[in-house]
Amino acid sequence: PHPTPADPTTDCRALAKALSGLHFIGGRYVPARSGKTFAVVNPATGEEVARAAEGDAADVDAAVQDAARAQKEWAKVPARKRGALVHQCAALLKAHQEELSRLIALETGKALRTESRVEAGVVADVFEFFGGLGSELKGESVPFAPNVLSVTVREPLGVVGAIIPWNVPLLLMALKIAPALVAGNTVVVKSAEEAPLTVLRICELMNRILPPGCFNMLSGFGPECGAPLVTHPKVRKVTFTGSVETGKIVAKAAADKLVPVTLELGGKSPMIVFADCDFEKTVSGAITSMRFTRQGQSCTAASRIYVERPIFEAFVAEMKKAVDAMVMGDPLDEKTDIGTIISEGQFEKVQGFIEEGKRTPGAKAHECSAMPTDPALKKGLFLRPVIFTGLDGNSRLVREEIFGPVTVIQPFDDAEAVLAEANDSEYGLAASLWTNNLKVGLDLAHRLEAGLVQINQNLVVQANLSYGGVKSSGLGKEASLEAMLEHFTHKKTIMVNMA
Ligand code: NAD
Repeated sequence: PHPTPADPTTDCRALAKALSGLHFIGGRYVPARSGKTFAVVNPATGEEVARAAEGDAADVDAAVQDAARAQKEWAKVPARKRGALVHQCAALLKAHQEELSRLIALETGKALRTESRVEAGVVADVFEFFGGLGSELKGESVPFAPNVLSVTVREPLGVVGAIIPWNVPLLLMALKIAPALVAGNTVVVKSAEEAPLTVLRICELMNRILPPGCFNMLSGFGPECGAPLVTHPKVRKVTFTGSVETGKIVAKAAADKLVPVTLELGGKSPMIVFADCDFEKTVSGAITSMRFTRQGQSCTAASRIYVERPIFEAFVAEMKKAVDAMVMGDPLDEKTDIGTIISEGQFEKVQGFIEEGKRTPGAKAHECSAMPTDPALKKGLFLRPVIFTGLDGNSRLVREEIFGPVTVIQPFDDAEAVLAEANDSEYGLAASLWTNNLKVGLDLAHRLEAGLVQINQNLVVQANLSYGGVKSSGLGKEASLEAMLEHFTHKKTIMVNMA
């Protein structure tokens, strides 16, 4: 039976309970082979909202075997037809946007209005975009010799193993499964242990359209469930989003069996603000780029802000004022701008950075935003956003990814010096420049070491625009036609001697 709640638009708690203890394998919801489960906690209240199936190597094997069987048939479906089916999923996801949004908010603590609803909406876009690309899976005819016809064709890789984090679970899953499926692969997804429910919910929706086995979902922990997915002999491609540390483990395991791997990893994204910028637009851009609405839990968060000295003081003051005006509270409440941190572990890690910053001589912590007062939220993982000034470039807060509502603002005097500082990082995911001098802006955009550089706007992830980091921020790209072709197909050469 497929879990569906009485009123899915409002009753996310009933839906969470109905999804308890289940994987999705071969077109059906099934419990873990071991029968084991673990708690899924609402980070705003501390309440256990569901139990998730605790997957291990036996579940991985069952899912991969089913996916491998399904792939043989799925690859025979004409590419345009596969695209049309993926496109149909978009309409169904749109129709269920509200239900999915509420479930995301419940399990991640991300505010419904500012974050979760946006994520659920973008997911449908991703399916729509890739669904239209079936006819782009084409090859070339290459001149070789007289009487020899030489062509290339695009073929799927087989079963794709996809591992995702908790911060934007539905969107990051969509960026992997939609292109993989259109390209003729089948997929086994390992969800993040903190947020397994929404991705599990959409299995039932997609199963109304796609053949069983094309799409499988496992919940569980990294070493027990993620690792065996990477090493399974029938998994022919690994696509991973998460931390640099885990990305390296995954890449090494994939290298051992020589399968291609795509990695979308962490960031420490610089935002460079020149005195000639549009001041108000830039302050608001800094708030959005820092993703305060998501408690800063964003890989592209503008966690290093460099502001030209003449406007430095005013910028810090204005930014604090803007964050102070934001409402922190119950993620499911429409009035809420800022929700919670995802887990106690993450909460302690971020607090450790904040304490370290406060102890640093010369540093100043500007703490923002009122905390919620509702007694129902007293166990919630709410953390005040903090803007640090007075830290230098050697501070751990400037160099390491915090993945929390903490940003560091530093003054600068010289464009070349600030460029050198921005590039002095192991990361290279995103960067932004704010200036009305586009000559300077474009020059620096070319020289910033990042996969995505934006001038006078904050992150706009588009399914049709290539996305991904350089340096330790990743390997390979997601989104875009090019990513689908390069990362989910291989090019086969066929030669016919007609002499
Ligand atoms: P994480 O690396 O701890 O976990 C990510 C996933 O890997 C989880 O599903 C986890 O269970 C799994 N995993 C853990 N150990 C594993 C192993 N040994 N083998 C296989 N899988 C394993 O990351 P997280 O804390 O969930 O997510 C936060 C990180 O993700 C941040 O660094 C953030 O920057 C990054 N991120 C990057 C992007 C991007 O697009 N570049 C997007 C979102 C998040």
